[in-house]
Amino acid sequence: MRFADITGYAAIKKALAGMADSGRVAHAMLLYENDGCGALALALAYAQYLACEHPHDGDSCGHCPSCNRIAKLIHPDLHVVFPTNTGSKSGKTKAENIVSDVYMEDFRVLAVENPYFLESQLMEAIGLETKSWDVNVAEAKELSRILSLTSIEGGWKFVIFYLPETLRLEAANKLLKLVEEPPEKTLFLFISHQPQKVLQTIFSRCQSLRIPPLSPQEVATALSALGYEEADAAEQARVCGGSIGAALYALRSGDDTRQFEQWFSQLMEALLDDRLVDAWAVGDQIAALSSREKQKAFCIFVSDMLRKIFLMQQDLEDLSYATASRKELCRTLAGRVSPKFASRMQTFLDKTVYYIDRNVNQKILFTDLIDRMSININRV
Ligand SMILES: [Zn+2]
Repeated sequence: MRFADITGYAAIKKALAGMADSGRVAHAMLLYENDGCGALALALAYAQYLACEHPHDGDSCGHCPSCNRIAKLIHPDLHVVFPTNTGSKSGKTKAENIVSDVYMEDFRVLAVENPYFLESQLMEAIGLETKSWDVNVAEAKELSRILSLTSIEGGWKFVIFYLPETLRLEAANKLLKLVEEPPEKTLFLFISHQPQKVLQTIFSRCQSLRIPPLSPQEVATALSALGYEEADAAEQARVCGGSIGAALYALRSGDDTRQFEQWFSQLMEALLDDRLVDAWAVGDQIAALSSREKQKAFCIFVSDMLRKIFLMQQDLEDLSYATASRKELCRTLAGRVSPKFASRMQTFLDKTVYYIDRNVNQKILFTDLIDRMSININRV
């Protein structure tokens, strides 16, 4: 991946290339972002720039053997570490002995196809049996062993360390010295989604760099370049929180979105007709979805639909960026609920997302959300 392949982040790319050009490469960097914003893409482009045989104009050439191998994640001096647990390929190995290498092929396929993938997509790709994972002591030992060997190509050795916030304390202790004084020409690139959870002993040894969310315009440009239709790209760009990864995930889960639209329609109809039992039945279906990510996605979908309804009530339909079928649904509802409803519900929806992340019983959560919707619906 070249810097030029990454949308936005002009200043960050310039800073990274500048560090490489001046020979002042920080041996440990921590890139932190909201899930799916581009930190991994930037880390890979930076490694490729440093490894490239013919870099020019602040970017790698994209053609030399080193560029090719980094792009395919098969460069022998590029090591990738990510949290693990028992999963599809771990066989009878105990969780404490599983290292990233077991799932490296899954990581490679995912990252080469889409370097903006979300954490949950990696979990899915490696077929984790539980929803918890960490970087264990075995991984730390293996990394120390690999880094003690000389580089195979004679140049830089890179460690892309995905989610250092999952590093176990005993494992971190084994890595401290290595991160503080790595062997010559060794570069640690940590990618974190929760930097506040990274152990202070690791964090303090890194130069940290925030990768901010992209603007809706930048996300839309990136999505259009990937071949998505302008209306879909513009709509997702507005609701993805500046994360290309989140937008891509939503676009590729088109079936989910159609289902969400149907549920939202049934839910609103039931609430407007005072059929609370029917509304709860919709809530039960959402609570029964296969993952917390999908439940959160539904809340974000409802939040966006209510925003569209509100905009239509203010005669600002052009700002709502709705597809045809959603426009129709929102227009109907805009004439039936009060404008106060959308703004009141926003807080409850945000809280529901917050509690889903904290593993509160989902059936209770969605019943509660629907009760609040029913109380606040304020028919016109
Ligand atoms: Zn090159």
